[in-house]
Amino acid sequence: MTDKTNIAIVPATRQRQITAANTGKPPVPWPQKHQPLCWSLRLWSVRHSRGLERLYRVFAKVFLTLHPLWGRIGYSRAERPIGFIEKRVKGVLFDCRMCGQCILSSTGMSCPMNCPKQLRNGPCGGVRAGGHCEVRPDMPCVWVKAWEGSRNMTHGDLILRVQKPVDQSLFETSSWLRTTAKAAAEQDRSRMGDTA
Ligand code: SF4
Repeated sequence: MTDKTNIAIVPATRQRQITAANTGKPPVPWPQKHQPLCWSLRLWSVRHSRGLERLYRVFAKVFLTLHPLWGRIGYSRAERPIGFIEKRVKGVLFDCRMCGQCILSSTGMSCPMNCPKQLRNGPCGGVRAGGHCEVRPDMPCVWVKAWEGSRNMTHGDLILRVQKPVDQSLFETSSWLRTTAKAAAEQDRSRMGDTA
């Protein structure tokens, strides 16, 4: 399978099987009661996906520049305060569930963990007329919004990438720190390659 594959070809049932098989644990329960205010803010984020994409890229660079500081403090010790801030900020903007493996940049700034079926690779077959959720008819489908948001973004075609199954062991950890540590390791590797 190529890296870029149309999201529609990964059926919903298969996505759920992959997710369950990955950890052997049932998916994290999806909260039943959601306030429309959360939805309004989520929809605002999708409408402003281009600006948020730019902001995130700047933010990621700043975080990477601070890598020596995180290294000195210790990534594991930074986890608690940074995770606390991340949870609050992304909770307001995206109704984030702290899955620890953020893919907002690939999903039009619409958090896939808000999907009642927790699908990470596109919508199920039950999207209602008008683009509403099969499980929560009063809620816009997360993936319909993801597609709309992605169309505003510079790197919106990342939505076509097939995502790995969600790793439940990463819940409640900071994606910001994980992404930074990964980027720093890649940077070190490429520097070593240049000097070799
Ligand atoms: S993809 Fe994960 S980390 Fe990103 S907003 Fe959604 S729950 Fe939070």
